[in-house]
Amino acid sequence: MKRVYQKQLLGVFGDPVDDNPSVVIEQAAFDAENLPMQYLTIQVKKGDLQKAIDGMKAMNFLGINITMPHKMEVLKYLDVVAEDARVMGAVNTIYQRNGKLYGENTDGKGFVMNLKNGNIPIINKNAVILGAGGVARAIAVELANAGIRKITVVNIFEEQGEALTGLLNHSTPACAEFELWNGTYSIPENTDILVNATSIGFVKETEKPNINYESLNANVVVCDVIPNKENTLFLAEAKKKGCRTFHGMQMLVNQGAIAFELWTGRKAPVEVMLKALKESYKV
Ligand code: NDP
Repeated sequence: MKRVYQKQLLGVFGDPVDDNPSVVIEQAAFDAENLPMQYLTIQVKKGDLQKAIDGMKAMNFLGINITMPHKMEVLKYLDVVAEDARVMGAVNTIYQRNGKLYGENTDGKGFVMNLKNGNIPIINKNAVILGAGGVARAIAVELANAGIRKITVVNIFEEQGEALTGLLNHSTPACAEFELWNGTYSIPENTDILVNATSIGFVKETEKPNINYESLNANVVVCDVIPNKENTLFLAEAKKKGCRTFHGMQMLVNQGAIAFELWTGRKAPVEVMLKALKESYKV
């Protein structure tokens, strides 16, 4: 009997990339489904992206995740870019079909999936997003596409905040406004969904966004993007106020599940992926 040693290759390109957890969730999913696939964590330095993309084509990779600093630059090497990813100006997932490269952004979709799975209404609601970086941008565009009415972007730097609200007002159906974050921010009374889309709480567990937690009422749905903890200080404060909360670990798994489905055409084993991530982060 002929033995088959070859595996289909997938992975992530980024720099730094050594602590990127995608391998944990994707490899757990491939193994659970008995798929002959190998996910690699690959350092690609700034300036080397084009060569890396040529390499993945030559080696017939099935797909690749893209992380910082390449999420924006990569668009110019792709044959087809999904409309929402084009609006965001960032791609985090590529799949290869018949020699063509397709780009998607699954970050914001993973976030919206969290809300939808929790039966949280989005249409005509008001969201406040803390931060205006890459993840804030992805979440804002997908919330807008899912029917949110208004998005308030709160950021310490005006330029990034105004750039995001400009993009939302220009290219999505939502209405957006910017609030400068220059002290303790009070959450407006009509807020339905509050998102921490900053990196606060990722490295230092004792840090939380500088908001007035007393201004949170129990009807606000509070979400964190921090991917390495289920219970950040931000979410703990929200729980104290009686709010429903959604953590970034599940969002990470959801965005990885969407990528898995694009690559394999199969439904992702989401529970297996979440279990593997929790074991890896020991939470
Ligand atoms: P960026 O660097 O693009 O954006 C970070 C944002 O946080 C910026 O708007 C920045 O403001 C703001 N910020 C950082 N520190 C502070 C602070 N002390 N006070 C106020 N604002 C602050 O990063 P990303 O958007 O790529 O990632 C953000 C977080 O999301 C990271 O922790 C990352 O690990 C996580 N993430 C989670 C995913 C998931 O699926 N759960 C997926 C991808 C990322 P400014 O730019 O104005 O300085």
